[in-house]
Amino acid sequence: MLDLIPAPTAIVDLIDGRLVFIANNMAFRAAGFVCGGEAALLDAIGDRIATFLTSAETRCSVPLQIGDSVDSRYYDVTLARCPDRVSVASCLMTLLDQTAEQRTEASLRREMNTDSLTGLANRMGFGDLVDERIADGKRARYAVLAINLDRFSRVNACMGSLSGDELLISVARRLKGVLRGCDVLARTGGDEFAVLLTLRGGPDDAILVAGRLQQALVQPFQLSDFSISVDCSIGIALGEDTEDEAEDLIRHAQFAVKRSKRTGQTEIYRPHLFDIVRSQFSIETRLRTALEERQLRLAFQPIYDLSNGRINSFEALARWQTPDGQHISPVDFIPVAEESGLIVPLGRWAMDEAARALALWDRQSGGHCGARMAVNLSAVQLQRDDIAAMFAEVLSRHDLTGDRFTIELTESAFIVDPDSTLQTMLALKAMHATIAMDDFGTGYSNLAYLQKLPIDKLKIDRSFVSGMLADRDKVAIVRAILSLAQALGMRTTAEGIETQELEQTLVALGCAFGQGYFYSKPIDADAAYAMLVARNA
Ligand code: C2E
Ligand code: CA
Ligand code: CA
Repeated sequence: MLDLIPAPTAIVDLIDGRLVFIANNMAFRAAGFVCGGEAALLDAIGDRIATFLTSAETRCSVPLQIGDSVDSRYYDVTLARCPDRVSVASCLMTLLDQTAEQRTEASLRREMNTDSLTGLANRMGFGDLVDERIADGKRARYAVLAINLDRFSRVNACMGSLSGDELLISVARRLKGVLRGCDVLARTGGDEFAVLLTLRGGPDDAILVAGRLQQALVQPFQLSDFSISVDCSIGIALGEDTEDEAEDLIRHAQFAVKRSKRTGQTEIYRPHLFDIVRSQFSIETRLRTALEERQLRLAFQPIYDLSNGRINSFEALARWQTPDGQHISPVDFIPVAEESGLIVPLGRWAMDEAARALALWDRQSGGHCGARMAVNLSAVQLQRDDIAAMFAEVLSRHDLTGDRFTIELTESAFIVDPDSTLQTMLALKAMHATIAMDDFGTGYSNLAYLQKLPIDKLKIDRSFVSGMLADRDKVAIVRAILSLAQALGMRTTAEGIETQELEQTLVALGCAFGQGYFYSKPIDADAAYAMLVARNA
């Protein structure tokens, strides 16, 4: 039936600088062009028609939108010169109603840009929104936050995807509750959210909001009969930093969130870090040079005996300051060293350097300085190097005994090659070294291997310790690790103690040793010795 109605056509003349409009009103009305439509039309594109009429153009097409609310209508307006009306500037105007097409396209676009589960913008929609903000010009005052839920896949695996969906909706609701109306929350992936944040102040504002977002998830979620804790890691990219496109900003935030997963704290994207990691080759050559030119140092962090407040040992931690003064964190260069094989010379250097420091402290105190030394051993180094021989050599070079050392291994060592790892451990034990399991709880936590291996000590990962006071689930985990250790005859060190309150809680729970910023950050050898003397006098 619609086909029978001719496209609304009108003749428009330009007489004495005024547009005169002769239309077939019925046809116009049929096209939804109701009363007053002509005026609106001339209002919107009158200037364009006048330009057409005074130009040499013979035909042109102009998009037209009438109304700017939900019921606005869209037309394709075609202007064509009338060859038979040469006495006045005149044209034939045809309106093609495009409203239905436009609406379909808009709803399709909306659908493509929306996450159907939460109703939030999805990755694509978020990209468009960030693009709009960039085009807006007020560039200095916004940030993109990438939010990654930790261990979310476990919920799906254990409770089914329906529960996972329910949880995601609740998470979205809580996150949204923290944000202001001008901020945008999006779900950019399975367990990934993102925020386009309008900054009131500087970057601190973004950190503040990140903290609030994390705080919003602290309270466990109630899913049927279960109470589920969800943590998140957050990475931030600042709009002011770069001349980038939306895609770059989002990628930078995602890069920062990956880093945040490793460091356990909110990270702001820093271009030089990205360059370093992107250019594996560059960091590798620089690290090689760094080893040769002795740019690496060891820092020492005390480990306290919680029963008497004395320093039991120091953990040796690698530090790299490049000649141009840049500090590169071991979180960034140890993985590169592992991938490139440089971890073998690096690990050898660290062991030797740690022994050298301990031997010096002994000499300074005229005998046994009273502390032991903990050295990290990478799983890759364990595979590639003859650790036992290397350790024996270091001991004899510095005239020390094996019982002065703790070797810290991570769980990955036992997954990669359990048999050879066991052989190495037995050889180290034969030299009376202590074996500690580092970052315990973050890896595979397979109890079967714990029982089989000669492990003396468990180091409870910082991520459980630091969140303990705010999260009862973490207290439960720490308590479980402590009783497990006790049952297996192992001692325990809690990492990442930052407050006295945490220390007291851990003492009450029966943890033997503690390490963290509350006592001291990693410091250089001289400062460490001074601390030892002062503390253990
Ligand atoms: P890790 O063995 O778990 O070392 C503890 C890390 O936690 C250190 O970071 C330390 O500075 C940090 N830390 C200690 N107390 C606190 C605290 O209270 N709060 C917070 N937020 N952090 C605390 P660092 O020095 O950046 O080392 C990171 C990781 O790099 C180490 O984690 C270790 O896995 C690796 N690493 C460092 N040096 C060496 C090395 O010589 N050889 C090998 N294979 N790995 C190393
Ligand atoms: Ca360690
Ligand atoms: Ca650790």
